[in-house]
Amino acid sequence: MTPGRHLAFRSFLFFWWGGLRVFIRRFAKCDDAVEQFTMSLTYFCPSCWHEVGSVNTCPNCGADLRAFSGRSYEEKLVLALRHPEPTVPIRAATILGKLKSEKAVGPLIEIAASAKDPYIQESAVEALGDIGDDQAIFCLDHLSREGAVRVRSAAERALKSLKAQQNAAKEQDSENMKRRNG
Ligand SMILES: [Zn+2]
Repeated sequence: MTPGRHLAFRSFLFFWWGGLRVFIRRFAKCDDAVEQFTMSLTYFCPSCWHEVGSVNTCPNCGADLRAFSGRSYEEKLVLALRHPEPTVPIRAATILGKLKSEKAVGPLIEIAASAKDPYIQESAVEALGDIGDDQAIFCLDHLSREGAVRVRSAAERALKSLKAQQNAAKEQDSENMKRRNG
């Protein structure tokens, strides 16, 4: 290899490796954002919420913590609704709402109706509004009439926004009908 070619080859390697590193870093960051939240959950036992550190079996209730790591993201989020650190259930409820998780409707209704912390109840109510299935609407209707002020007004807001969405959908339907017939 001539010195010129050698240099070109080296700079090619240099840039290729630089690009690869940027790619790896970006990919790792994105992956981190997704996993960071559920990773933080494994410091507590998902069955009894005893603090466990990095062991494989919960010293308090004997639950297999490795089985927990095999569960789906959605299942972990549902379990996180019972997490003792108040910010965790609030984040979990918000994400479950955005995912429109049907699996979460039952647990969210329980939290909305019975959690001791009105901020956690409020986040569950908002998530139910985002999911918006029949069961969620039934519960929101009930919660808009009784319970803590924060919970009632969150339920009212959720119902109002669901109604607005329904009306918009209806309008779109009749618009489509007109266009088809005309
Ligand atoms: Zn446990």
